[in-house]
Amino acid sequence: MKNFSNYKDFDRKENLHDDSKVVHGALGTEPLTGAVSMPIFQTATFRHPELGVSTGYAYSRLENPTRQELERTMAILEGGIRGFAFSSGQAANMAVFSLLNPGDHVILSDDIYGGTFRIIGDIFEKYGISHTYVDMSDLEAVKSVIQKNTKMFFVETPTNPMMKVADIHEISKLAKDVGAITVVDNTFLSPYFQKPLQLGADIVTHSSTKYLSGHNDVISGILVVKDNEKIAEQIHIHIKSHGSQLAPFDSWLVLRGIKTLSVRMNRHNENAYKVANWLLAHTKVKKVYYVGFPSHKSYEVTKKQTTGFGGMISFTVNSNETAKQILKKINLIMFAESLGGTETLITYPNTQTHEDTPKAIKEKLGINDCFLRLSVGLENAEDIIDDLEQALD
Ligand SMILES: *Cc1c(COP(=O)(O)O)cnc(C)c1O
Repeated sequence: MKNFSNYKDFDRKENLHDDSKVVHGALGTEPLTGAVSMPIFQTATFRHPELGVSTGYAYSRLENPTRQELERTMAILEGGIRGFAFSSGQAANMAVFSLLNPGDHVILSDDIYGGTFRIIGDIFEKYGISHTYVDMSDLEAVKSVIQKNTKMFFVETPTNPMMKVADIHEISKLAKDVGAITVVDNTFLSPYFQKPLQLGADIVTHSSTKYLSGHNDVISGILVVKDNEKIAEQIHIHIKSHGSQLAPFDSWLVLRGIKTLSVRMNRHNENAYKVANWLLAHTKVKKVYYVGFPSHKSYEVTKKQTTGFGGMISFTVNSNETAKQILKKINLIMFAESLGGTETLITYPNTQTHEDTPKAIKEKLGINDCFLRLSVGLENAEDIIDDLEQALD
């Protein structure tokens, strides 16, 4: 029985809740054998039955069933027409900026992932694409930097690492008014807590290295296009030309991670809430940046556009000595870059994730030598707090 045509159609599972969608994906099971876990199609190429007849697959740079299952699953979860899986979050963002033409202008969140600064500054500037960084939590400020040639708004919310929140709906409206598209990097909350495309954005991107895969074991990126076939086709041409698509095994790891997205996100959310409140009360902690505090500047926007606060917290301690002491004394918590995985990780953004962010911007934002970022993992919250307590002592 050869029924490859079963691969063509997939069920968008509109009637299911997100907790079920993450488990059942697009095809869910493999149609030919019924394998419950989508197999890893570790093949470079596909045999054709005869001239002019195809199974729907030709070469794994173009299409691969394992990657396709991931891409379709993400299109379902984000609510878009088409998903793309990349070899990293950086590769996904490279594809986004490649939509721009020389002479175009892009507006970005001022407090953005360090690697995105590098893409736009070091690479796209020389292709004649200009940019402006602005505090996207301030709509008036965003309006004030719009130019005649503004073609894209690139939004990260919450931002990394200052936890600023942008109103996705309002920014998408502004963008539409001037004929620009809105792109949201949804890495921090995942579609389980925030759905940018439903709020008006045109494209959503992820470093699926983080919450989507969730186990600190794979580098990968995702991009989902809402409804614009032309944009989807441009991204398709980009990925097949750059060859920046995700490998079958890595696609399978991300798919496997997504199956537990809902339980993981809920636990990250609960743990971070406890840890953030504990930090707030500590005498050596001067400031805690966390979107779940009612005192957070954009708490109302957060409540409006998300269903959870996520697992990320940044904080400033009383001195650089204290910061160094924490990084040295922590036991359970690991001093390592990255976020969104099972293990609690702490980073020192000043010289790690944001090393290449211009110094003036870092100073303005508050990324200094007393500043730390915590990705709260899935351990017992008491153990995370105990570890922080002894490290701060
Ligand atoms: C990590 C990260 C990226 C880059 O993703 P990689 O998978 O490391 O290439 C982009 N945006 C955000 C918000 C990130 O946290």
